[in-house]
Amino acid sequence: NQIHDFSADGEWIEAGAGTTWENVERYLEKKGFSLRVYPTSMPAATLGGWIASSGSGLGAGGSGVGSVMYGPVGKNLAGLEVVTGLGEILNLSEPEDIADFVGADGITGFITKVRLKIRKKPASVRRTLITAPDAEGAQRLVEAIGAMKSVYFAQFEDASMLEIKTSLGLHAPLGVKGFLLFASLEGDAETVRSECDQLKKMTGECGGKTLPETEAQKEWEERLYPMRVKRGGPTVIAGEFMAPSSRLASVLKDVYSEFPGGAAKRAIHGVVIEAPDVMLMPQIFSDERKGLKFLASLAYVKRFNDIGLRHGGQPYGVGHLNAFNAKAVHGQAGYDRLKALKKKYDPGDIINPGKGIEHRTRFGFAAPPFLYNLSMFGLGLFRRLGV
Ligand SMILES: Cc1cc2nc3c(=O)[nH]c(=O)nc-3n(C[C@H](O)[C@H](O)[C@H](O)COP(=O)(O)OP(=O)(O)OC[C@H]3O[C@@H](n4cnc5c(N)ncnc54)[C@H](O)[C@@H]3O)c2cc1C
Repeated sequence: NQIHDFSADGEWIEAGAGTTWENVERYLEKKGFSLRVYPTSMPAATLGGWIASSGSGLGAGGSGVGSVMYGPVGKNLAGLEVVTGLGEILNLSEPEDIADFVGADGITGFITKVRLKIRKKPASVRRTLITAPDAEGAQRLVEAIGAMKSVYFAQFEDASMLEIKTSLGLHAPLGVKGFLLFASLEGDAETVRSECDQLKKMTGECGGKTLPETEAQKEWEERLYPMRVKRGGPTVIAGEFMAPSSRLASVLKDVYSEFPGGAAKRAIHGVVIEAPDVMLMPQIFSDERKGLKFLASLAYVKRFNDIGLRHGGQPYGVGHLNAFNAKAVHGQAGYDRLKALKKKYDPGDIINPGKGIEHRTRFGFAAPPFLYNLSMFGLGLFRRLGV
């Protein structure tokens, strides 16, 4: 879990896979460099853990801070050292070889060392916080943000999320109707200035407002703590799916119509990732101590994923419990390749067995996908019956 090597000229850094993203960023800061992408869980997430997480699929992996500019983590790797299930140590530097171990949920090999592409600290940085009164305005602004050259990170939240934060004593601008959008614009001073002005103008045209820069700076400082709202639960049922930003307004409407009515707390958080997509995280605050009621609300996760799929998107992440989504996340070709890679690199099935391409139960057999659909359907029925 240490930094091994760094090249300012080559713009890369090499570190042990157990190093946290935050440690690498701290090291780079002192050298006048910065990470290109990192997860918002950077204080605790390791290089190997995030690179292995499936995110948007095999070869791509997760998206996070920086992904609107640099794409998913898979596009930001210059090398990997991996130990396969056969005990071989592979030193990989070709993108097509590296891809076999990115977004694979760790089932093809154990990553031991990582060479990351890095960036020089930008000459100019401006953070902007704007509002949009409705979903159509939010879509227009998100599409513009996704197309801008200098946007490094951008996210948005609906007014319910801000109300929940305020009620929990967390930072949130007051009195926002509709949506709050944050963008960090980074690069050469001229591009940053002109794109910031463009965004401000467009915000006015959408009927929104530009909030003070001090508020925008606070939003940036809070970017690593998206789960603090969980205190409002104590459990949060969170969907996580990708959808094209050109469908954002319709997707938001579908999510709202799926949300429970009454006093249930629910809200939406979104991140702008590599164009043309956004990542949506609808959240329903629940209480896992309430047995059947809580179980019934799990059906929402599938319903949210289905909304993403209907609009040309896909679920985000596979792991263990969501292995039923593996084909939707990796695509049929990616899924077939992952199965073939598993046979090639880990024929004895010793690395992360029963994950990623199947949901193996503790009884040793893989649960068939129809069982998942059936149980989600059953839980959905309970929900509709008001359990
Ligand atoms: C607050 C919060 C914010 C988050 N933000 C983001 C985000 O912005 N973007 C995003 O995509 N995800 C995000 N996540 C989820 C994200 O996947 C994890 O936070 C992060 O990737 C986990 O890293 P970890 O080191 O804890 O790995 P773990 O959770 O320990 O492992 C993740 C997977 O990788 C495998 N693995 C771990 N290490 C290795 C290795 N060295 N070699 C091979 N396989 C390995 C594990 O077996 C497991 O399958 C967030 C989660 C939280 C709680």
